[in-house]
Amino acid sequence: MSESTLRIGLVLPDVMGTYGDGGNALVLKRRAIMRGIDAEVVHITLDDPVPDSLDVYTLGGAEDYAQRLATRHLTRYPGLQQAAAAGRPVLAICAAIQVLGHWYETSAGERVDGISLFDLTTAPQEKRSIGELVTEPTLAALTQPLTGFENHRGGTTLGSDAKPLGRVKHGVGNGVGDGTEGVVQGSALGTYMHGPALARNPELADHLLATAMGVESLAPLDLPEVSRLRKERLAAGRRR
Ligand code: GLN
Repeated sequence: MSESTLRIGLVLPDVMGTYGDGGNALVLKRRAIMRGIDAEVVHITLDDPVPDSLDVYTLGGAEDYAQRLATRHLTRYPGLQQAAAAGRPVLAICAAIQVLGHWYETSAGERVDGISLFDLTTAPQEKRSIGELVTEPTLAALTQPLTGFENHRGGTTLGSDAKPLGRVKHGVGNGVGDGTEGVVQGSALGTYMHGPALARNPELADHLLATAMGVESLAPLDLPEVSRLRKERLAAGRRR
């Protein structure tokens, strides 16, 4: 590893990483390397303290018990909170949005305190939301629809410091009836999209990379297989 290596934190893949969410870290690494930028994925497990010095962080989804173990670990080692406060980009998928909020209620109705990195709360909804999800992004840096696969029972209510990542076109999203999906707060983003989200949404991947590198934007990469995946998944969303 050299001084200039981009360090991508995959946070708690041992407990959070349903539906291949760990792939988001691999997509970031690959897209950096394709541009001639040296990059490595740093696995942070329940055995490790959470460093605050990495360039970008990703966290995946999980079910109730795993979510609780992750919450406890992130509370004990607040490196992620410190990194986000310093403006480092963070991508939180599904259960990770909930863990990063003020509190979430488990499917058994028990309230668990989160780490308050996001101004939001989550409570279970009557019906589980499962299926293709398509949104119109709200971030100025993103011009293309976002696509992913959602599977969650939690419904997330955003507070005034948190903005949605997108407006729902197909699917459910945050699930509290306001048409919002995901969250943006400072340099941290969250989405209910699995898939993994960054394989399906290269623009979002490059936005995180650009933020990590401290540049305004990156020239797009022309990858026909990624364009084909997007086309297929967006069509599947429309068929819902
Ligand atoms: N257990 C959470 C919910 O159902 C998150 C699920 C997930 O990450 N897929 O809301």
